Amino acid sequence: MEYYSGQISKLIEELSSLPGIGSKTAQRLAFHILNMPGERVEELAGALVNARKNICYCKECYTLTDQEICPICKNDRREHETIMVVETPRDLAAYEKTGKYEGVYHVLHGAISPMLGIGPNDIKLKELIRRLEGDVKEVIIATNSSLEGETTAMYISKLIKPTGVKVTRIASGVPVGGDLECIDEVTLLRALEGRVEL
Ligand code: ZN
Repeated sequence: MEYYSGQISKLIEELSSLPGIGSKTAQRLAFHILNMPGERVEELAGALVNARKNICYCKECYTLTDQEICPICKNDRREHETIMVVETPRDLAAYEKTGKYEGVYHVLHGAISPMLGIGPNDIKLKELIRRLEGDVKEVIIATNSSLEGETTAMYISKLIKPTGVKVTRIASGVPVGGDLECIDEVTLLRALEGRVEL
């Protein structure tokens, strides 16, 4: 990339380090940014810096938020006795988009993967168990149907069952290995409605 000046190369290098951005896209983005008005570039840079600085975990469900308690956990009209366990905030967003789920969530930030060396202590599992001390009627496990997602679901169900709280798993209408966020809303709703008790 010597044909670009140092600062342009640096910009391209930073952009291409992002997921899903190859060197061609990085170059296209870099030149797009260089053609943007100065104040737009500052807005973009500011949004990146502020998001990184101000976003933290919700103290209850561990999704990403800029408040101590996220708007979903804060909402009195949601059913706080039903907790849906998802792997990432993007999975949460996928279920929120359906507009049909009225419970609250718990975001694990990953899944158990012996292959990658990710154990139960590396995800927000203790935090989930702690929430069960409150008034919880059902835990819906909506981890992905990948090997890691299934392993995590089994592990959680074994952990929760002795407490007497109902544990369900979303139906396997979700394609195997499918990322929850890529699945359309109808399929998600069907998976949720067809959930089975573990
Ligand atoms: Zn929350």
